[in-house]
Amino acid sequence: MLRAGIVGLPNVGKSTMFNALVANAKADAANFPFCTIEPNVGVVSVPDNRLEVLSRLSNSQKIVPTRIEFVDIAGLVKGASKGEGLGNKFLANIREVDAIVHMVRCFDDDDIIHVAGSVEPVRDIEIINLELILADLDQVDRRIAKQRKQAKNDKNAQAEVELLNKIRTVLDDGQSVRSMGLSEDEQLIIKSLGLLSNKPIIYATNVSEDDLATGNEWVEEVRKFAQDEDAKVVIVSAQVESELIELSEEETKDFLEALGVEEGGLKSLIRATYDLLGLRTYLTTGETETRAWTITAGMKAPQAAAVIHTDFEKKFIKAETISYEDLVETRSKGAAREKGLLRLEGKDYVVQEGDVIEFRIGG
Ligand code: GDP
Repeated sequence: MLRAGIVGLPNVGKSTMFNALVANAKADAANFPFCTIEPNVGVVSVPDNRLEVLSRLSNSQKIVPTRIEFVDIAGLVKGASKGEGLGNKFLANIREVDAIVHMVRCFDDDDIIHVAGSVEPVRDIEIINLELILADLDQVDRRIAKQRKQAKNDKNAQAEVELLNKIRTVLDDGQSVRSMGLSEDEQLIIKSLGLLSNKPIIYATNVSEDDLATGNEWVEEVRKFAQDEDAKVVIVSAQVESELIELSEEETKDFLEALGVEEGGLKSLIRATYDLLGLRTYLTTGETETRAWTITAGMKAPQAAAVIHTDFEKKFIKAETISYEDLVETRSKGAAREKGLLRLEGKDYVVQEGDVIEFRIGG
């Protein structure tokens, strides 16, 4: 399962947001009886309205959304790369995630101490990013030292050292590896290093409930900053999300309506993270269940089938496929078949976002 780590300075609202994520996950626990949740790891469902629609068409007994994991990486402070706080341990935690959700404080509240003295999100972002860059610099230096000898008579090692030197210059200049726009081949060379400033990132701007509908000046500053990095920004309100946990469905609706929003930002954060990871969803539907499955962009039908069961890749015969839109329009696979909208795809078919599939599997 893919994993996103929530980072940010202390007191920006990470734990509040994380607790809301976990509370949502717990509400789902009935669907996932075997998932244990570690204290700082929450497994969350990816919201997808299509599941509800399909389950009605199929009279499904249940809906099973797809999931991603969020990890609360608390304790990242200025000086972490030098071992301040519990620095190294947290940096090691970040190394294991596929994407970073960087939470920044865009709310004012005199009662809540800001570790750097004032609300200034771009400065905050730069403090954390610098720690990641310094940790990378350390890692790159160690790798160069290790590979240098070997590079004398090994072409691959030579190419690696050359690339690492290029990366070193950028890091030394205070820029993230992400900003370099490395090619696929280059990414492959440095993959095993798990460089922190190379991970895809979303900035989650935590605003007060009054600013949830409109954003505020601080959010705009973050947007400007993120544009240069080609990073995404979502507006969330950790406080609103934490208040929603206690409310009934009816109360939630009224509360959100009064704020002029449809949600507290949690859902769009989950969706944005899913997109950031380059993930795609295909769907299966029947009387037993309607379910979403996660694949990566470009995956072919047999590999997509293996997400359901590893055996399915070898035993794959055909994928009976229809787009979600076509199925909703025709309302049944039977009607779709008559119109020629239900396709039988072979092993080279690249599964598309929103495909509704029934795999034919051999014995
Ligand atoms: P963390 O250190 O980043 O995990 O921050 P916490 O989630 O522990 O939040 C620190 C404090 O800020 C807590 O007292 C929260 O209740 C408060 N807080 C979190 N989000 C908001 C918010 O959106 N508005 C306000 N006013 N307070 C918040």
